Amino acid sequence: MKVVVIGAGIIGLLTALRLKQQGVDVVVLEKGKVAQESSWAGAGILCPIHPWLYPDSFTDLVNASLDLYPDLQAELEAETGHDIQRIKSGLLIPCFADDKVKHQEDAQTWSDKFAWDMQRLTPTQAVEKEPTLSAHVVEALLWSDVYQVRNPELLRAVLLYLRKLGVDVIEDCEVSQLLEDKASNICGVKTVQSETYAADAVLLAAGSWSANLTQQSGFKLPVQPVKGQIVLLKTKPNTLKHIIKHDDAYFVPRKDGRILVGATMENVGFERSNTVEALDELLAATQKLVPGLKDAQVEQQWVGFRPGSPDGLPFLGKMPSKKGLWVATGHYRNGVALAPITAKVMADWICGAQPSLNMDAFSPNRPMKESIFVGYPKEQ
Ligand SMILES: Cc1cc2nc3c(=O)[nH]c(=O)nc-3n(C[C@H](O)[C@H](O)[C@H](O)COP(=O)(O)OP(=O)(O)OC[C@H]3O[C@@H](n4cnc5c(N)ncnc54)[C@H](O)[C@@H]3O)c2cc1C
Repeated sequence: MKVVVIGAGIIGLLTALRLKQQGVDVVVLEKGKVAQESSWAGAGILCPIHPWLYPDSFTDLVNASLDLYPDLQAELEAETGHDIQRIKSGLLIPCFADDKVKHQEDAQTWSDKFAWDMQRLTPTQAVEKEPTLSAHVVEALLWSDVYQVRNPELLRAVLLYLRKLGVDVIEDCEVSQLLEDKASNICGVKTVQSETYAADAVLLAAGSWSANLTQQSGFKLPVQPVKGQIVLLKTKPNTLKHIIKHDDAYFVPRKDGRILVGATMENVGFERSNTVEALDELLAATQKLVPGLKDAQVEQQWVGFRPGSPDGLPFLGKMPSKKGLWVATGHYRNGVALAPITAKVMADWICGAQPSLNMDAFSPNRPMKESIFVGYPKEQ
């Protein structure tokens, strides 16, 4: 069996790995350079932002994915010697008297329902855990079992493993067309260089760009880029211990002392510039939430495009209207967390096995409901 994967982000690469391990002849085609888009830019928090805003089927998918991470980490380390820096940082949500949305009760209900251990901390306990935190905190929610991964390192390890297994990942190779046979089934792809790649199945894992190709083939997949800007601060290791998350911003402390401050949510298409407004916004949030970081030096700022979907859920499965075409895209804010289960489900499915989870909620053909809480942000 031959499969073409379109897109070398975490979704395309990890699925290609799982396909290869099942004996599939797989090639990955990438329009730019490998692993440089959303999967590189993201923060690597292995827990959705406010998971209680999503349907239960989403939490089931997340839990199944997070369960696969320890084995994935061990496998990548054994096969490549590469440390993906998956660390149990814990996640702390500080609450303030003037918060626009009070998350406490929904967070508690969700945590109880899905057996995620959550503690409610007094202001004194919160500041004891994180001394750089604002003194104006009125309460804090703590999930001690939340992990992060350093996503560029994860991508590097997956790529090394793919190369070891002899999988071709071809850069500067933009797919411009899905090819159809006489029965109108998808039978391969054509690139902008006019090369063709024949395939028994094509997996569309093109992140924010996924809608372009489906549109040409006459069907709609409503994936839209949601621009996110991140600012990188340089501090000493352990200045911050936990991932801190608030509606205004989140803070992800890396092992080497760097702290990611993210991220804007912008509905501006593929506009790639780093803006002063975003820098100011994220630094103002730092000042308010963790004023103890005020002397940290700004080292870098970058942009990524989350593959957004109207309801915030990914599109996973086959396109009912096009035999031979599979999609794994629209992972929005959660693609790094969801990559292990996406890769497993998609590889098994393409190879003929039914997924063990109910995937109806993620069908590319599902009735689409826009969610003001988790879907696309408002137009700017
Ligand atoms: C600022 C920010 C913070 C985030 N934080 C987190 C987080 O903390 N936790 C989490 O789980 N997720 C997070 N995410 C989301 C996560 O990064 C994405 O959901 C995930 O990376 C999507 O992976 P992907 O492989 O689908 O897309 P991408 O990584 O964007 O990869 C798609 C690839 O397809 C290629 N491509 C597109 N069109 C074509 C074509 N026609 N031919 C060939 N190649 C093509 C692109 O060049 C790209 O390399 C964040 C994202 C951003 C931007």
